[in-house]
Amino acid sequence: MSLSREHAADLSPETVVVAAGRPERGHDQPVNPPIVLSSTYFGTGALSDADRGYGRYANPTWDPFEEALAQLEGAELPGLLYASGLAAVSSALSLLPAGGVLVMPSHSYAGSLVMASELAAKGVLELRTVDIADTEAVKAQLAPADGKPANMLWIESPTNPMLGIADVRALTAAAHDAGAIVVTDNTFSTPLVQQPLELGSDVVLHSVTKYLAGHSDVVLGALVTSNPELRSELLHHRIIHGAIAGPFEAWLALRGLRTLALRIERSQASAMTLAERLRAHPRVESIRFPGLPDDPGHERAKSQMKGFGSILCIQVAGDGNRSGAEAADEVVRALQLWIPATSLGGVESLIERRRRHTAEPLSVPDNLVRMSIGIENVEDLWSDLEQALKALDS
Ligand SMILES: *Cc1c(COP(=O)(O)O)cnc(C)c1O
Repeated sequence: MSLSREHAADLSPETVVVAAGRPERGHDQPVNPPIVLSSTYFGTGALSDADRGYGRYANPTWDPFEEALAQLEGAELPGLLYASGLAAVSSALSLLPAGGVLVMPSHSYAGSLVMASELAAKGVLELRTVDIADTEAVKAQLAPADGKPANMLWIESPTNPMLGIADVRALTAAAHDAGAIVVTDNTFSTPLVQQPLELGSDVVLHSVTKYLAGHSDVVLGALVTSNPELRSELLHHRIIHGAIAGPFEAWLALRGLRTLALRIERSQASAMTLAERLRAHPRVESIRFPGLPDDPGHERAKSQMKGFGSILCIQVAGDGNRSGAEAADEVVRALQLWIPATSLGGVESLIERRRRHTAEPLSVPDNLVRMSIGIENVEDLWSDLEQALKALDS
């Protein structure tokens, strides 16, 4: 590929998203990688590990994205693409030994929690859930005085949807002391906002579906690590379990990645503006956004993130006529520009009341609405929100 890892390390991430993963320079060569649609590769001699061999083992269309992601996360090895974020979660959890102990945030992404709980119910692993923002509580679960030490710490920061902020440096150090490896789900932040490897994590996970691809038109996942043993275990899992990325999706993800820096810059700025206005609105009972100076995660977020992301959550106040959850549903239905839909990280602003999902933990308030800020004009987004909140008065 034309941009080496060494060169990328000297460039700013805004440049790397544009320059990484392009084919070698050469007169009349394409500037974008091709999509390779082939389930097998020519071969006559003995197969080596470096050979592609078969379409489930490797596809050249994955390589540019995997290299670009490694360069952005500051990894020493290419990333690994998967068919979805949850396929990447499954592969990461396979690093646990049989019956191993997993410490996971009680407000992890719901799918990750469901997977871990189901594996725990079958005795495949032991699950300990904890408030990841409470460093002492996490430490107690990692190395309990009277119990088994943990094998893996799962970090999500900010958490979904409560936007709790973990002290990633302190937690990775404590996990390593306990002999556990650390997997950080960096979906909410992207490598442009937070770099978990730099903060001590062993493996970084992405739902590429969200910000990295960025247009709500692909489902993909990825893992990144600088540890060769972990990477080869993960690669083996991907080959044998088969949750591989389609070439077209991989190509679209790289195309989406090109504009990541611009999208993040716009959506983070808009999230800040909307958070300040929403907190002052009488229909907003409470707001969580780490960018607000009085948010409980603000100082920590500042110490480990470049910006505060572009997800914010509000609780909509009920009144004499309706409960908070009913008011939240009414607001979502009254919006004309915001799209009522699950997911996040796309160019379009999405909004949903999280408890409409039956799998959402009951500790998430039933009037909590999660907002993923897109790249539309912020005044248009605000006008739409304002009219939808005002409609509660009529
Ligand atoms: C969406 C999401 C996932 C799961 O990814 P899919 O691509 O939907 O399988 C995992 N973690 C977080 C934080 C997510 O937002």
